Amino acid sequence: MNPGALHKISYGLYIVTSQKGGRFNGQIANTVFQISNAPPTVAVSINKQNLTHEFIRESKVFVVSVLVQEAPLSLIGQFGFKSGREVDKFAGVRYKLAPGGVPYISGPTLAYLEARVLQEVDAGTHTIFIGEITAAEVLQEGTPLTYAYYQQVKRGGVPKTAPLSTPKEERKMQMDKYVCNVCGYVYDPLLGDPENDIPLDTPFEKLPADWVCPVCGAGKDEFTKEG
Ligand code: FE
Repeated sequence: MNPGALHKISYGLYIVTSQKGGRFNGQIANTVFQISNAPPTVAVSINKQNLTHEFIRESKVFVVSVLVQEAPLSLIGQFGFKSGREVDKFAGVRYKLAPGGVPYISGPTLAYLEARVLQEVDAGTHTIFIGEITAAEVLQEGTPLTYAYYQQVKRGGVPKTAPLSTPKEERKMQMDKYVCNVCGYVYDPLLGDPENDIPLDTPFEKLPADWVCPVCGAGKDEFTKEG
């Protein structure tokens, strides 16, 4: 078996949220898809170890926030590389409540869908929750974020914000890229880290000592020079 074949499957990137006893949690998920039209149903696949899994089981409600392509890496890191058992993932995040009382991300979001769980399918490490849509709104127009696009951005392949002049080969030679050992984010000095006010052309060595990985929050000492 060539596991690379699995990487040829394309996905979106979503934040799936739920609540338990008035406490909110959510996580990044790429496995969200519509099942049927009448009634309108969607399925999400959630790891059994995740706090969101516990919350969905308990409340029987989940909400899917469909992220826009320009969603900040820090938001994906907040919901994808941290655990709701240790941090409040909603701290500093703009959200609103869907009619059922579960939050959706209200900033870089194209649409949200709220669903009530009809059925759970045990899939080993994961549970597939099939839910009937109970509310849904389009919040803005734009291009939905895909998993492939996220991977490109994370590896410094797509400039996130400021349009970039053609990098000079000589500059490229002088400045090394550094890879986060925790999440795989690649710091590219040519791109800097505009979300955190690090301008283009900032070498890794010149980053402030308190700079952290924009995706997962790991410190500079968790980075390795790219081979
Ligand atoms: Fe990281």
